[in-house]
Amino acid sequence: MSTISAPEEQKILETVPKQLYIDGEWRDGSKGTFSVEDPATGETLVDVADASEDDAKAALDAAAAAGPEWAAYPPRERGEILRRAFETIIKHEDELALLMTLEMGKPLKESKAEVAYGAEFLRWFSEQAVRIEGRYATSPNGQGRLLTMQQPVGPCLLITPWNFPLAMGTRKVGPAIAAGCTMVVKPAQLTPLSMLMLAKILEDSGLPKGVLNLVTATSSGETMGPLIADPRLRKLSFTGSTEVGKKLMAQASDNLLRLSMELGGNAPFIVFDDADIDSAVQGAVIAKMRNIGEACTAANRFHVAGSVADEFAEKLAGKLGAMKVGRGTDDGVEVGPLIDDNQRSKVSELVEDAVGRGAKALVGGHARDGAGYFYDPTVLTDVPDDARLLSEEIFGPVAPVKGFADEDEAIAAANDTEFGLVAYVFTSDLKRALRVCEKLETGMVGLNQGMVSNAAAPFGGIKQSGFGREGGPEGIEEYLETKYVAVNL
Ligand code: NAD
Repeated sequence: MSTISAPEEQKILETVPKQLYIDGEWRDGSKGTFSVEDPATGETLVDVADASEDDAKAALDAAAAAGPEWAAYPPRERGEILRRAFETIIKHEDELALLMTLEMGKPLKESKAEVAYGAEFLRWFSEQAVRIEGRYATSPNGQGRLLTMQQPVGPCLLITPWNFPLAMGTRKVGPAIAAGCTMVVKPAQLTPLSMLMLAKILEDSGLPKGVLNLVTATSSGETMGPLIADPRLRKLSFTGSTEVGKKLMAQASDNLLRLSMELGGNAPFIVFDDADIDSAVQGAVIAKMRNIGEACTAANRFHVAGSVADEFAEKLAGKLGAMKVGRGTDDGVEVGPLIDDNQRSKVSELVEDAVGRGAKALVGGHARDGAGYFYDPTVLTDVPDDARLLSEEIFGPVAPVKGFADEDEAIAAANDTEFGLVAYVFTSDLKRALRVCEKLETGMVGLNQGMVSNAAAPFGGIKQSGFGREGGPEGIEEYLETKYVAVNL
């Protein structure tokens, strides 16, 4: 049973803009429309505008034209636009959470958490807008002065994935606005509705025309390729798969664009024998099941000290097996559907591969029959080293548990991946905690906690998880250039 009525769902779907937002105007897409589906039912929610190459070019024209005026706009006013948008989002968090659950599938409670997290980037960067600084120094030889200033990079292209429909956008839009950059935003085709609402909220918050232009499209390569090649573009910030990120980086090299690449992950979750096992299990539930396992930060493999591995796996199986699976709008649901049939097939394939090589399912291990793309929460033990899910991003509710003999083996196993986004470590030994954190090859570590996301912290990876940081004081630097003036004095 759902506490949300069909008319309530209808109302929010009617409110969301469905056109392209270019130069302060909502307009139709030249290629007609495409459908956005509810992953819990497979049914169409609404149709939104499908942009052509010319529409995308018009969006960049608008961003380029608005650039100089926006760069000179008072930082305080740029910050206040962001602050007003933050407050509007919080005021409407229930409606925005419902919209997100409809397009992406996650349970309402999690959507609400993402709405709050996403809004927080707007508040954080509203505060950073007035803290863009330079410096003035005496040259070491005493003859002259060194002056530095920070200036907006210029028109940016911001491309976001489907898994966090709002927060992946606000992490880029917030600092770009605060820094004085104009932008073209392209949300994922599967979940464009939250970003369309964000564009409307920013418009209503007083964002001048042309600063943010939003393009929804079925053909991302065709529409985005010409923008990446356009000399007026100065930066590309991409969140998505490593595969697509590499392609875009190659395209961006012709134009020598500034780049931020927030790519895939394969997070190890390490539990030492001195850890509080119950709190490690609690952290594991969050690190694994947040966003139905469809998070770049999702714990992909659990490396647990041999002496406590069985206890950990059984307790985790108990928790995951008890989670209620269903449509995200239904009461008490903790696990929604996966985003589409492709994603669910990939998860099934990885589990079948592991089981085929000897892994055992303590709980789950199956897709659900019927409408929607549901997959049962799964815990696997006896996972052999060559099982594909240890080296590939699972992006689903599946937890493989493996034992280790000592600290060195745990670190080696954790680092045995081409990815380097995040790792989780559970231990009650402070020296060991810091020693292990230093040795992990990742951009972030969750120490005795299953979540790292925080608008005030620098989020990002190393190795094949990309580069660049979103959030924290570092987040705005991605949108600023440093100019040095040699002063003859
Ligand atoms: P994806 O790479 O398929 O798509 C991401 C975005 O790129 C979408 O908007 C898509 O339309 C667009 N795109 C695809 N091909 C393109 C092309 N040729 N030119 C221009 N744009 C193109 O990724 P996804 O399936 O939407 O998202 C899941 C992936 O995102 C996972 O690998 C996940 O780990 C990663 N992710 C990373 C972070 C992070 O911060 N590191 C956060 C969330 C998701």
